[in-house]
Amino acid sequence: MTEIPKDHPRYESLALREEITRCVEAGITSRQGLIAHGRGEAIDYLIGEKTLPSALEAEEAAVAALLTSKNPVISVNGNTAALVPGGIVELAELVGAKIEVNLFHRTEERVARIKEYLESFGAKDVLGLNPDATIPGLSSERAKVSKEGIFSADTVLVPLEDGDRCEALIGMGKTVIAIDLNPFSRTSRMAHISIVDNVVRAIPNMIKSAKSFRYTRVIDLLYFVYAFDNRKNLEAAVEEIKRGLDEGRLEESSGYSKLSIW
Ligand code: ATP
Ligand code: MG
Repeated sequence: MTEIPKDHPRYESLALREEITRCVEAGITSRQGLIAHGRGEAIDYLIGEKTLPSALEAEEAAVAALLTSKNPVISVNGNTAALVPGGIVELAELVGAKIEVNLFHRTEERVARIKEYLESFGAKDVLGLNPDATIPGLSSERAKVSKEGIFSADTVLVPLEDGDRCEALIGMGKTVIAIDLNPFSRTSRMAHISIVDNVVRAIPNMIKSAKSFRYTRVIDLLYFVYAFDNRKNLEAAVEEIKRGLDEGRLEESSGYSKLSIW
């Protein structure tokens, strides 16, 4: 492990890299997960590494959808487990959701490690180790699910999802909430509620929302869900990326060096 100096201008981003690398070594995250993380980092840079107002709106609608569902499930993969293990456990408890491990690069050992890791943060009854149902029309390992979890869920929260499974879950009639920094991905386009934000900001924001909704009436929560327009929301995220490019995000970073003639 490399010790990252606290005063490094990109401390947070580097610390996340360290953490996800540690989790690869611990058998929690796949090596391919590192590549997915890098793609996320690139887009995060373009949105200014902050929660956009449109993402906050999506996060609120997502929490309202989870709170008004009968059997909500949070699907966890290796990257999510590495980046927000405690957050997932807390959010699940606040919205009354089950947690199920579901992996693209699935091995029994990795599912067991992730389950154990989440349990060390207080999770109980983590599903996914003994899948007893299959998502129809999906050939990858992600089709393996548990009957009482993802298979019978009415709403599934899928951080860092794969477009194919997102489509298959929608085909099963479920409400799908995605957390994906890429507003252009198939996942973001397909999901009912797409949160274009880094999972490390999205989950804490959702925890805050869940707490603030504690005494909100169901009818008002439903209003949040139905008033949400995913297409408009994604367009707002794309606009923000374009604005960042036009204005030059570099203005906000450390400055420029000019070559001099010697
Ligand atoms: P799709 O199959 O939906 O078109 P994809 O193939 O582009 O997506 P995958 O490799 O399936 O992407 O999944 C990785 C996705 O997760 C990427 O879109 C990436 O932007 C996103 N991602 C990576 N790290 C994070 C993060 N920390 N928070 C949120 N999203 C992230
Ligand atoms: Mg994909």
